Amino acid sequence: MKKHNFSAGPSILPQEVLLKASEAVVDYNNSGLSLIEISHRSKDFVDIMENARALVLELLGLEGKGYKALFLQGGASTQFLMVALNLLEKRAGYLNSGSWAAKAIKEAKIFDDVYEVGSSKDANYNYIPKGYEIPEDYDYFHCTSNNTIFGTQMKSFPKTNIPMVCDMSSDIFSRTLDFSQFGLIYAGAQKNMGPAGTTLVVVKEDILGKVSRKIPSMMDYQVHIDKGSMFNTPPVFPIYTSMLTLEWLKGKGGIAAIEKENEKKASIMYSEIDLNPLFEGFAVKEDRSLMNATFNLTNDNLKDTFETMLKEAGISGVNGHRSVGGYRASMYNAMPIESVKVLVEVMSELESKA
Ligand code: PMP
Repeated sequence: MKKHNFSAGPSILPQEVLLKASEAVVDYNNSGLSLIEISHRSKDFVDIMENARALVLELLGLEGKGYKALFLQGGASTQFLMVALNLLEKRAGYLNSGSWAAKAIKEAKIFDDVYEVGSSKDANYNYIPKGYEIPEDYDYFHCTSNNTIFGTQMKSFPKTNIPMVCDMSSDIFSRTLDFSQFGLIYAGAQKNMGPAGTTLVVVKEDILGKVSRKIPSMMDYQVHIDKGSMFNTPPVFPIYTSMLTLEWLKGKGGIAAIEKENEKKASIMYSEIDLNPLFEGFAVKEDRSLMNATFNLTNDNLKDTFETMLKEAGISGVNGHRSVGGYRASMYNAMPIESVKVLVEVMSELESKA
């Protein structure tokens, strides 16, 4: 039986994408060859790469606006340093809204001056810092749109004239935004897009080329752009699977359509958390994430009963991150609303048993 998969990442992908991807591993398009045993320079793969890159810009509404989409390697964690190498000349401002943001700050500090313009570390990151200022003479401002571990999400972004860089690893393609307000967006594939192994970078080309340091080729966005995202052998399987997910999303009506579903799922989930006295939410209400709902039991004695019930209902992956504890229901794009309903039923059944 297929489980109800609430994993925070790597996480649920559409079933039809998994089936198509698995077929391609055995025999790509009846070619008699597997997708993972052909040259990345073959027409078959070059077409996949170009299609995937174009779909990204189309879905984000960034076609013809000076942006390039790249499929790189090394995870979002490599972007923590790559962003600084390519953009940090003197000073940058970072919003410390969670432990991934803190890691991005740590890496950037290796290269130059980095300032935290705001932080919610004082409350174990259960809210998004607000009311901060971003000096106009900074090279860029870095933020994390969705804090996967803590279940908080930025509902608005500051207005600034300097390039805004955003780690969208856990909410890319999940909600409509004016994506042209960002100079650079990055996201590990393994939440809303595909298997781990590739990282999406969407960069406005005119923010590049402004730093004086020499950048190693593999770390240089411009090198990857000039080589059509094929400077070295790209991770062909994660990119192909990402392309399938992007096609799936386009077929559903794009980001605007999936956003409506995501809002419905989150509303069912948070209503239960708020109405059921056995649960309490972790993140402050106004900053709650549509992707990752974090919550705790109000009575720890019910832990074993609740977890047995979850298991019996075929629910998987709801344990909270070790730095928060409790539970985390991740409801990425591919999560069916029915799975959220099953989880909510278990929560309300617990109330009737207690
Ligand atoms: N940023 C965010 C918001 C994340 O959730 C994660 C974890 N997937 C990362 C960065 C690190 O990503 P990776 O493991 O791909 O380096």
